[in-house]
Amino acid sequence: MRYEGMVYRPPSEAYSLIIQVTIGCAHNKCTFCGMYKDKQFRIRPLDEVLADLDSARSYYRHVDRIFLADGDALVLPTEHLQRILEKIRELFPECRRVGIYATPGDILRKTPDELTVLRDLGLTIFYVGGESGSAEILRRIKKGVSPEQLIEAVRKIEELDIAASVTFISGLGGQELWQEHATETGRMISRMEPSYVGLLTLMLEPGTELYADIQAGRFQLLTPLMVVEETGLLVENIEVKRDCVFRSNHASNYLSLKGTLPGDRAKLLKQIETARGNAALLKDERFRLL
Ligand code: SF4
Repeated sequence: MRYEGMVYRPPSEAYSLIIQVTIGCAHNKCTFCGMYKDKQFRIRPLDEVLADLDSARSYYRHVDRIFLADGDALVLPTEHLQRILEKIRELFPECRRVGIYATPGDILRKTPDELTVLRDLGLTIFYVGGESGSAEILRRIKKGVSPEQLIEAVRKIEELDIAASVTFISGLGGQELWQEHATETGRMISRMEPSYVGLLTLMLEPGTELYADIQAGRFQLLTPLMVVEETGLLVENIEVKRDCVFRSNHASNYLSLKGTLPGDRAKLLKQIETARGNAALLKDERFRLL
């Protein structure tokens, strides 16, 4: 298998076979994201991808999950993805799940019939960067999408029985907009009702626009205790009627939380309350990772 540049995948795909079907991110404008700044977006030729799958089959006896990278691989035309998924079915009959990064635009552009074809070929989990429920923050970070589009995209796939795993970023509103970020994100999750929510905490690499904003004093990061405060307000604003797995156990998080909402709401709020005002319970800055 051939990999080009740094390859990123969601934490829950740590043991998956990763196949690059696109290189980079077609959007590549988010002000906090440095993942694909060194890559010019392009679609990998189909024969290269199919050859990688053949090669992976010769290396691995058992492949339980496959993740299709890079950044927003659902941007691929449906027929192209279909060919890849058919090859996966043929070569890896034991594979239980194929996942992919998807932007709301990718999801909304595809018809329900197209998405159903992909789902029936095993593509059953989409990872969506929600980032924030606030329209103003989405505008400032140049996400290129509105809260309504995000909600519509997630509901669309969940209704088709494709699991949505949506990430949001603690601290993305800075000290100026932290309350708006928390309340609007909680409300967005309530309206989306995704299968999974992952809460990361903002960490920035030099070279990103938001990093430059911090250096110039235009954006103030939250302190660790402010992040806990924000997480509490966010969870208080989530009201879902169906099960939603909520995790903030990424390497970037100060406070590790895991539960299934709505059932574990009180438990999560109690953990947050315990951590509130007690910085000793939070991850040391030196151990945080992107
Ligand atoms: S956050 Fe996602 S959509 Fe935005 S630039 Fe990074 S990979 Fe692309």
